[in-house]
Amino acid sequence: MKSVSGIFSQAVKEGRKNLLETEAKAVCRDYGIPVTKSELATNEQEAARLAEKIGFPVVLKILSPDIIHKSDVGGVMINLKDEKEVRNAYQQIMKNVKNHNAKAKILGILVQEMAPSSTEVIVGAIKDPQFGPALMFGLGGVFVEVLKDVTFRIAPVAADEAREMIGEVKAYPLLKGYRGSPPADIDAIVKIILATSKLVMEHQEVKELDLNPIMVYEKGAKTVDARIILE
Ligand code: ADP
Ligand code: MG
Repeated sequence: MKSVSGIFSQAVKEGRKNLLETEAKAVCRDYGIPVTKSELATNEQEAARLAEKIGFPVVLKILSPDIIHKSDVGGVMINLKDEKEVRNAYQQIMKNVKNHNAKAKILGILVQEMAPSSTEVIVGAIKDPQFGPALMFGLGGVFVEVLKDVTFRIAPVAADEAREMIGEVKAYPLLKGYRGSPPADIDAIVKIILATSKLVMEHQEVKELDLNPIMVYEKGAKTVDARIILE
């Protein structure tokens, strides 16, 4: 597997600023950030075989350097429970994507491990021209999109600051467990924030990074989508 610098220079060489999901996740994995595993299929038959190998249910996702927001073009189908659903989803995604953008270069369709749904959080980084890389944390979905309930710190952050970030969003009580729902693994989120901090400090060519969403469990967490944009 390619090193982080190798992944970045390959993208630059090809004139791409947006890393593919597979590349962004390889970078994350290198820094110890847990990500869903996936393999690339280039035909329906292969998708079915890979789904069998990974284990049902699976998720299918378009892999294209020209498509940044995959679900906006009907490029993501989740919770596929058997071979027939996988084959149908493969054809459907190809059709959806071609309808939206006939010119998109399609590398294939990722067959991905399905992360059980849980509380979703977001860890992000953005490079400020004045202060350098800053880290962001929030809960997923409406908390970020509608309520803008997020918090920022200039990188690098230490463990106590990462913990502070998590504690200061308004939605924090949801992570502590409520109405019988179990508490989320805060330490797992702290680890991801620290790893992200290290990543953006060591690679100042990262302009934006977005782990969205990360499923957080009672024990552990898993990043299901990762985006990295280079300068
Ligand atoms: P995009 O943000 O490019 O539209 P995502 O990869 O984030 O695409 O997929 C859209 C949504 O589908 C995610 O926000 C998540 O809710 C769900 N999803 C994607 N991949 C998985 C997965 N491996 N396991 C579980 N849910 C997933
Ligand atoms: Mg996403």
